[in-house]
Amino acid sequence: MEFETIIGLEVHAQMNTKTKMFCGCDNDAWGKEPNTVVCPVCMGHPGTLPVPNRAVIEKAIRSSRALKCTVNERSHFDRKNYFYPDLPAGYQISQYKFPLASNGMIKFSITDPKTNKSESAECRILRLHIENDAGKLTHRGNHSLCDYNRAGTPLMEIVTEPDLRSARAASAFADELRRILIAAGSSEADMFKGMMRFDASISLRPKGDTKLYPRIEIKNLNSFKALEKALTYQEKQLKKLWEEGKQPTGETTVGWIDDEERTQLLRDKESAADYRYFPEPDIPPLVFTQEYIASLTSDLAKLPSECKAELTAMGLTEAEATMLVDQPALRERFDAINAAIKDAKRSSSIVLTQMVGFLKQHDKTLNEAPPATTLVELALAMQKGTISTNTGKEVLEKMIQSGKSPSAIIKEEGLGQVSDDALLQKLVEEGIKLNPKAIESFKAGKTQALGAIVGWVMKQTKGQADAGKVQEILRKVIA
Ligand SMILES: [Zn+2]
Repeated sequence: MEFETIIGLEVHAQMNTKTKMFCGCDNDAWGKEPNTVVCPVCMGHPGTLPVPNRAVIEKAIRSSRALKCTVNERSHFDRKNYFYPDLPAGYQISQYKFPLASNGMIKFSITDPKTNKSESAECRILRLHIENDAGKLTHRGNHSLCDYNRAGTPLMEIVTEPDLRSARAASAFADELRRILIAAGSSEADMFKGMMRFDASISLRPKGDTKLYPRIEIKNLNSFKALEKALTYQEKQLKKLWEEGKQPTGETTVGWIDDEERTQLLRDKESAADYRYFPEPDIPPLVFTQEYIASLTSDLAKLPSECKAELTAMGLTEAEATMLVDQPALRERFDAINAAIKDAKRSSSIVLTQMVGFLKQHDKTLNEAPPATTLVELALAMQKGTISTNTGKEVLEKMIQSGKSPSAIIKEEGLGQVSDDALLQKLVEEGIKLNPKAIESFKAGKTQALGAIVGWVMKQTKGQADAGKVQEILRKVIA
């Protein structure tokens, strides 16, 4: 039997505000001593009152618009009650029936790693709401340690419709979402620091069937790799069950064990009733006017997918465009060079192939890359013919090694292009003598045959001759 895979995601993204969601504690707990960035509010002490952080709401509104969601004019916070040692208040302040925003959509592309071909896809966003994070537990042997530094960190929870049709699509979607949140300025979305976490739901159905069958929810996936692996694993398991006629009849929740690359049954899924949601009594409802929403989103940057489309329209490959969209330091340099030489392919080759390659080769980071101004100087020197393309590469490598400007390197090393016509003419004549066969083939109609002679002249000048000029002289001589 053939099956269709149905996947939906719930994504938690940590927001990058200065302070936590309801108190003035530093929101950046990374690397800090456990339990040092806490106060009575985020520790849930009785008698304290939460005060919503305006920046959280504004950034969440911007993100909602970047995800093409409608920002609801009225929304409110609810208490989600449950007991867990990492939740000091005994409840989480979240949004339930009336979320901040709903009905959005993300366009993204899915690349097949084997063929490198991309196809475009869409996934609808059901809702985006804001809530506070819990602390962190570390399990050691038979005891656990609590660190509440993260308690009260603002989160955006983004829930998709079940529109994703493969594990790879889910991971590609999550990657695009990461780009959008970074572009909207609401999250650093740093996977290494656990700033984006996923819960994924998966079910199968026979191809052609339109019903949705009970799903399996996989909890707490902390990387794109884990997301894709866990879904691939669970898809296989489900397929087996279906084929044995034992498809799930109720919803279950499993956890992903990364080291063993398998899932483990956690518990039967709680229903909303288990959480005893009720409107948060300490915070008034959120009411926004359209003018207010518009004022927050008027300066939203272009979506990453739009930037990518512009770059591929200039002739760059999907992979090149993705690198530029993902790394602003590369994009800034590409833009500066392209503005000067008006040649996107060449600009991309200088930045993405040569510069990135030399940085790697010399164990340097992007922070140590030559600034845009010197790269522009180099690109213009090549375009004007002051140096050849080959010499340009050599100069770029020296710029990365020494930090010197291209003009200083060209001068010091005498790398200026050989454009002495008399010298080139002499070399061309010599080259013709040494390659009589090339001339014969050329006369027989093989225009490419001259390449051997041009190559020989270039070699004699250590790549510093203007190849165009050499060709010009050669054609004149044999005409
Ligand atoms: Zn606090």
